[in-house]
Amino acid sequence: MSETVYPVAVIGGGASGMAAAIEAAGILGPGRVLLLERGQRAGRKLLATGNGRCNLSNRDLRAARYHGHDPGFVLPALERFPLEDTLAFFARMGLLTVEEEGGKLFPMPLQAAAVLDVLRLELDRRGVLLRTDTDAAALRPGKGGFSIVCRTPDGETVFRARKVVAACGGEASPGLGGCSCGYALFSALGHRVCPTLPAIVQLKADVSGVKGLSGSKFDAAVTLFAGGTKPCPIREERGELLFTDYGVSGPPVMQLSGHAARALEAGQAPFLSVAFLPDWDAGELRAVLFQRKKALSGRRLEDFMTGFLPKRLGQLALKMSGAAPLSRTGGTLTPEELGACARLLKDFRLRVTGTGGMKNAQVTQGGVLTGGFDPATLQSRKVPGLYACGEMLDIDGDCGGFNLQWAWSSGRLAGRSAAEAAG
Ligand SMILES: Cc1cc2nc3c(=O)[nH]c(=O)nc-3n(C[C@H](O)[C@H](O)[C@H](O)COP(=O)(O)OP(=O)(O)OC[C@H]3O[C@@H](n4cnc5c(N)ncnc54)[C@H](O)[C@@H]3O)c2cc1C
Repeated sequence: MSETVYPVAVIGGGASGMAAAIEAAGILGPGRVLLLERGQRAGRKLLATGNGRCNLSNRDLRAARYHGHDPGFVLPALERFPLEDTLAFFARMGLLTVEEEGGKLFPMPLQAAAVLDVLRLELDRRGVLLRTDTDAAALRPGKGGFSIVCRTPDGETVFRARKVVAACGGEASPGLGGCSCGYALFSALGHRVCPTLPAIVQLKADVSGVKGLSGSKFDAAVTLFAGGTKPCPIREERGELLFTDYGVSGPPVMQLSGHAARALEAGQAPFLSVAFLPDWDAGELRAVLFQRKKALSGRRLEDFMTGFLPKRLGQLALKMSGAAPLSRTGGTLTPEELGACARLLKDFRLRVTGTGGMKNAQVTQGGVLTGGFDPATLQSRKVPGLYACGEMLDIDGDCGGFNLQWAWSSGRLAGRSAAEAAG
């Protein structure tokens, strides 16, 4: 009996692998595309995305929303399979989307399960052969294609395919299937893999002086600085900042975290400067504080900010500005103390001491270097017939749907390129 040689095999049944398999099967027809997934089910991570709602893309797609050694690498894939085409891809599967603030796109039922369900239904409809519990441990290029050596519950199984798309994802969130398996496959084939760091993750910070704020959320503008003798701003984000017992979290922190991880790695002593009341400038804030001194001169400092700032923040800001004890009255506040308090509320500094690590990260920065691939097809320049897509490449996107959009666009481009070459 002759051995089956599949025209295309896809390794990894996550977002990009499912998109690649669907695209390839659309060209090659049923029974011709093999999808190998090491977990018990395909798409497990997808269920956790967007807090269970799956923020599947974003209107503001551009290279500046991506990071890595060569962020421009994303452009051919995003141009070939842009947002409108992604929405049409999902609409053909019956999934409609809704847009929320910041251009974020979600499935209409606001359930990540809906996205996974339509992808699974489409894999079925297109006749993709899905093998779960199948861990591709080695990839051997040979005459006419590849041998994929897999570990399965029944022992070792070898599959043969003319073209292979690797969609193994990154290391982030190992509890949801993240692993470094893809890097090992590619480095064994001579590809360069750059060191990885967590991104879209909570930050550990020196909050010893502000323990009372743990659990509090504030609308704030947060700027990440590289510290040292001449602090230098890296990036600013606005949104709901959450203080925790280990540091800070919330959307602005998640957005800055990848840059903070890099700054920590480079020994740049990063810190955050928090501007509370982000719509007010320092002068307006100062004026209000001076006005309050006049109007509330008999009020104890404990309640001096009550009605203007959250109580704990108000008390802490006064204490940190040297206006202790809080049993004093508003009328005793000196211009220096009021000025210091206004400055503190516009530039409240927190030293970043670490990140929540890969365990808690949503995305991996770093990975298989994109220089080894043709961005127009995602084919390896070193191993013809091998393609790569998704998070395993040295590309990570901002928080807000950019990572999944990269998974859809790059997965479809790799799947299409492989199928056209195989066909
Ligand atoms: C909690 C959380 C929330 C997130 N929320 C969002 C969001 O709302 N919006 C957004 O854009 N992004 C979000 N992300 C990021 C996004 O999920 C990932 O960037 C995206 O899933 C990457 O797709 P991928 O296909 O490259 O990798 P993955 O989805 O990780 O899939 C890789 C698959 O390959 C399999 N695999 C790996 N190696 C092998 C092997 N050797 N053999 C067989 N199978 C293998 C893995 O088991 C896995 O199923 C979130 C991530 C997390 C963890």
